[in-house]
Amino acid sequence: MKSTVYLVGAGPGDARLLTLRGAELLRRADVVIYDALANPELLRLAPPTAEFVSRGKNMSMPQAEITALIIQRARAGKTVVRLKGGDPFVFGRGGEEAEALAAEKIPFEIVPGVSSITAVPNYAGIPLTHREHCSSFTVFTGHSDSTEQATALRYDQIAKIPGTKVVLMGTERLEEWSQSLIANGMSAQTPIAVIHRGTTGRQKAVTGTLATIAALAAKEKIAPPALTILGDVVKLRGKLNWFENRPLFGRRIVVTRRTEQAGSFAHRLAELGADVLEVPTIKITTPLEKDAIVDCLLELNSYDWLVFTSANGVTMFFDIFFRRFQDLRDLGGARIAAVGPATAAKLRELHLQVDLTPEEFTGRKIAEAFKKYQDIENVKMCLLRAEVANRDLPDALAELGAIVDDIAIYKTVPETEDHGGACERLLEEGADWVTFTSSSTVEHFHARFDLPKLIKKFPALKIASIGPETSKAIAALKLKPALEAKEHTTDGLIAALLKAAK
Ligand code: SAH
Repeated sequence: MKSTVYLVGAGPGDARLLTLRGAELLRRADVVIYDALANPELLRLAPPTAEFVSRGKNMSMPQAEITALIIQRARAGKTVVRLKGGDPFVFGRGGEEAEALAAEKIPFEIVPGVSSITAVPNYAGIPLTHREHCSSFTVFTGHSDSTEQATALRYDQIAKIPGTKVVLMGTERLEEWSQSLIANGMSAQTPIAVIHRGTTGRQKAVTGTLATIAALAAKEKIAPPALTILGDVVKLRGKLNWFENRPLFGRRIVVTRRTEQAGSFAHRLAELGADVLEVPTIKITTPLEKDAIVDCLLELNSYDWLVFTSANGVTMFFDIFFRRFQDLRDLGGARIAAVGPATAAKLRELHLQVDLTPEEFTGRKIAEAFKKYQDIENVKMCLLRAEVANRDLPDALAELGAIVDDIAIYKTVPETEDHGGACERLLEEGADWVTFTSSSTVEHFHARFDLPKLIKKFPALKIASIGPETSKAIAALKLKPALEAKEHTTDGLIAALLKAAK
């Protein structure tokens, strides 16, 4: 049994530049074999049960071994996604891997990726072509081995080609090839930019001239991966540098919410330019006790109210619901209450209208909000909450005469994996901010990383808290948040971070 191997371009760094086809294939991969250049965040698209094989930093796994592994897994009937940085057919040995598959008669498909060649100049604010400056661009590698005849570069010819030039893998021999171009007649004044980790929150650019760039890049410690752009168009960067001008650019911010929830908060930070490290400390799973959930699903029609107290509760409930029912109408005619704006938003995403959104979050206040809505004597309510949840709410509702089923629809457990590689980065490089959105994220983060110790190691690391409850948990560790959001929502937290960045 043979299956198809997909050579997929992962895009240049920004995970969102993956193609739709690439995403579709990752979602059904059995095996994902990826290079260091492919953004590891993309691995989260694949089923958690998939096998993940990293080629390692500096491509520590030899090419022959990678090819053999791809072939072996394909022969075993697995759907293999071979994820390569940028485009698979641009300096990525995608050609060689495809040849090996063809020789073995293993079916393969190649999914183009957004190459760093065009994406990195885009994010650096440098148009590759421009009617006033040039009408062509040339791409070459600065790493080519001059002793290999077939692929050796002719700097004498390159120096004479008009238009913009893009150099890949050019940092290690920058001095050598830049001098070579000058020696061959190219102007020493040619504007040039070297861009490290373009399209990511870690983008760093150095600009100069062909004569000065090697020394400047060395001074700024520019390491691979970096791409170099030569030509007059580099001057446009002064006007067009949209990416690095975003308000949180250059700030590394740790997001400690659960993976399933982090999406939007982390995404908004990234859109503002932050280098976001998603380091979830807990994840949600189904509770051990499933009988109560089954009973509740069988009786859904008998409830007057379904009450959700968290976005997780909503997600988990509908996961379980749709595993059992095919038709949304099986939800019955109960009214829906949502505690907190995020919970209500999650329900609206599912096109469900929320009948009641209590303004305050204590059990008593919520019960009062219900009472204001209707007399809840003998009204049947189903609370869909976490396994270990405070008794205040069900007690307060029962006190007012409601018949309450308190169903544990999910439980939280510590997160121990590091799929996106963010933990590793945090422990190696530190960050500017660590954000906490609840007291439980503080406690779980501390359990995983020892917060005071982390701050000792990275003294520049500051704490951002969503509100007083969270700050209390931080104070319990004898630490103080550098900022606390005025409005106790993730939007409020973002506003505070923006203010601090000014
Ligand atoms: N197939 C890839 C290129 C692989 S060769 C593509 O299409 O983009 C690796 C080289 O690509 C690096 O040495 C660097 O020159 C360039 N590169 C890839 N991603 C980059 C990024 N995010 N920023 C800067 N250069 C990048």
